[in-house]
Amino acid sequence: MQPSTERPNATQSGTISFDNTEIAFRSKSDSELNRAYWLFKMIASNTLVKVGTPITNFALNIGLPITGIIKKTIFEHFCGGETIEGCDHTIAQLAAQHVGTILDYSVEGEETESAFDHVCEETIETIQKAATNPHIPFSVFKVTGLGRFELLEKVNAKQQLSPSEVEEFERVKARVDKICHFAHQHHVAVLVDGEHSWIQDVIDDMARDMMMKYNREKPLIYNTYQLYRHDILAALKTDLYLAKESGFFLGAKLVRGAYMEIERERAAEYGYPSPIQPNKSSSDRDYNEGIRFCLDNLDRIGFMAGTHNEDSCRLLAMEIDQRGIARNDSRVYFAQLLGMSDNLSFNLSESGYNVAKYMPYGPVKAVMPYLFRRAQENTSVAGQTSRELALITREKKRRKTKAGR
Ligand SMILES: Cc1cc2nc3c(=O)[nH]c(=O)nc-3n(C[C@H](O)[C@H](O)[C@H](O)COP(=O)(O)OP(=O)(O)OC[C@H]3O[C@@H](n4cnc5c(N)ncnc54)[C@H](O)[C@@H]3O)c2cc1C
Repeated sequence: MQPSTERPNATQSGTISFDNTEIAFRSKSDSELNRAYWLFKMIASNTLVKVGTPITNFALNIGLPITGIIKKTIFEHFCGGETIEGCDHTIAQLAAQHVGTILDYSVEGEETESAFDHVCEETIETIQKAATNPHIPFSVFKVTGLGRFELLEKVNAKQQLSPSEVEEFERVKARVDKICHFAHQHHVAVLVDGEHSWIQDVIDDMARDMMMKYNREKPLIYNTYQLYRHDILAALKTDLYLAKESGFFLGAKLVRGAYMEIERERAAEYGYPSPIQPNKSSSDRDYNEGIRFCLDNLDRIGFMAGTHNEDSCRLLAMEIDQRGIARNDSRVYFAQLLGMSDNLSFNLSESGYNVAKYMPYGPVKAVMPYLFRRAQENTSVAGQTSRELALITREKKRRKTKAGR
């Protein structure tokens, strides 16, 4: 797609507020709001998440009939459905509030050639869907969905590959190219997710190759820049330089980064300097600088701010207005994950900015690793769960008062 031009009445002045819980939870019925409340209450308990994860896995593996419960609770909150068509209802719900969908096939773990081919075909189907649905502005994939992690690690470390590994790696590159070629043919933008630093050079190289090939007319392939790494702001600048030199458009998804703990642990274990910033405020500083840098170079860059950070969203909204950029300019997007930070997504979209949400989907059992990570992230990202809980509680109270209950 390309972003819709029909927008709701935008607030044309003043600083954006993310406090309006009526807007944030408009699409949720009372019972859905209650479910979200209990869900985040449970997630807030570190112990429950720690204990619940292996128990749920065990129960699923021995075939206990818990899929139904999972589906009705955590799955329905964080996922769109089990299939692309199964997501239609949620896509329409978001679209009703002018929020786009990014279909994210979130099946993880199986490392066979047929599983990689299947992920490639499924991703192509999401692109096909996006090509015919104006409410799906991007598709997305992870390179580890298309090739073995250990193989990528070996290539990243510039280790000698065996002849069969050389062929295997060629197949990974062919899958990436197949997806990007299809996206180019159908004019659908595609995000390449960022992963662990010890495979990220390979991902960056592939994404750059794809940008050089398919971003000749406009930004279509977007690589991810994880600004919790101290070297990534510089990498973003270098990539822009390359884009200018080589005549392509840069697509950039800016995130802080999801693998901080494991990155630090690995660096300590193998005795190399951690790639992660020394502290949170350095990550925040580079993230916000990345936003300004992209805005400064909008003639060559299309970018997405993938973040649940209120200050960064406020900064981007403010900069868009101050620079006189149209709020629905297709080169700038905000993005959050389904089921999280709805106060940011819906208040931004209500004000006329471009917003999309990652919508994970797949069979319940197969997306469990994704759901466990969401639960763990919500316990580990300081403040995220209490923020969600405070907003839901406020909205519950507001509805009660309004109904005179
Ligand atoms: C739409 C979307 C797409 C995403 N795609 C990716 C992706 O492709 N790859 C990926 O890795 N992540 C991705 N993420 C996750 C993202 O990187 C963050 O982990 C998550 O969004 C939390 O960061 P934040 O900006 O939302 O907000 P905040 O809550 O303000 O920031 C938390 C983040 O700050 C950083 N941080 C926290 N403490 C410290 C510290 N002491 N020192 C240094 N840094 C610190 C960490 O990155 C932490 O995750 C995505 C997130 C969204 C919303």
